[in-house]
Amino acid sequence: MTRSRAAVFEAAARPLAIRELEVPDPGPGELVARVDLAGVCGTDRHRLAGDLGDPEQPICFGHEAVGTVLALGAGADHDRAGEPLAVGDRIYWSPPAPCGACHVCVVDEHPALCENLVWPVPANGANAAGYQEVALVGAHSPLYRIPEGVSGESVIAFGCAMPTAIGGFARLGPVQDAVVVIQGAGPVGLAAVVLARRGGARRIVVIGGPDSRLTAARRLGATEVIPIAALSPAERRDRVLELTGGRGAAVVVEAAGHPSAFPEGFDLLALNGRFLIMGLYSGQAVAPVDPVVINNRNLKIIGTLGSPADAYRETVQIAAEEGLERDYAGLVTARFPLESTAQAIDSVADASTIKAVVVP
Ligand SMILES: [Zn+2]
Ligand SMILES: [Zn+2]
Repeated sequence: MTRSRAAVFEAAARPLAIRELEVPDPGPGELVARVDLAGVCGTDRHRLAGDLGDPEQPICFGHEAVGTVLALGAGADHDRAGEPLAVGDRIYWSPPAPCGACHVCVVDEHPALCENLVWPVPANGANAAGYQEVALVGAHSPLYRIPEGVSGESVIAFGCAMPTAIGGFARLGPVQDAVVVIQGAGPVGLAAVVLARRGGARRIVVIGGPDSRLTAARRLGATEVIPIAALSPAERRDRVLELTGGRGAAVVVEAAGHPSAFPEGFDLLALNGRFLIMGLYSGQAVAPVDPVVINNRNLKIIGTLGSPADAYRETVQIAAEEGLERDYAGLVTARFPLESTAQAIDSVADASTIKAVVVP
């Protein structure tokens, strides 16, 4: 038995509280971990702003976590890939835990919308959330061991954006030799740059900003960057056409999170183009699009949300393979103590922060 100080969200109008929770010894399939780094995600901003509605009872949250194993319950001595786990090992886990048994998990293969998902979790007992000192991680959370020599920062550098992008690219299909235009240079856009490069894209063009993010995009593999603030949408389109001999992009990835990106990205597609929509997961929007163009130009529009569990494993593998060489850890540009979780969340509103983490 131990205790965990946790950041607790009660309502949008109230500051986050710090509450002490009792963490029991882990039961079968569970483990207890010290949280070393909790990633801050744009979704958390929506929560504090009240966009997601107030919860019925106070909740714990933080859905990106790296930590160190403190205790293992019966049968919890392996990660989800079958790698042995011991006390002192570092792990990467997803606090939301899809059940793996419902229709949406099994038939639809869409764990992000699991019918039995309990997330965020009530702040009335031990749980797997990131914004706290000690987490109790259950048997259903995706959970993978971080190999020796791989920093926690490099694993959490993109946060949930990397597993999300891995899930999106799986739905998109091959990008070998393609011109890929990525709208947005936040964590989702940067993760898409990594996957486009690893997938063998011929050109990777990032439309976004500010300069610090575009510099990171180049380091990660972008071949061209188009500063969004400096050019009008028409000028940005001209630039893409210029880079593609007037044909447009074989693949456009929307990772901007703004509804205006949809018509703009649509207008950048080449014949047979594919448009992956990854950043428009909240709010509601109406966008003007001519469906005749979808028909006549053989276009594919692909939506994606969340990621399969093994995308977390792949995230760790990618960080292990190239995180050092591409300075993934350098994407973590701001660190905050647990008491400053709200400030950490606010900090991602300022685009000069690439990735903020809470160090509980
Ligand atoms: Zn997230
Ligand atoms: Zn389910």
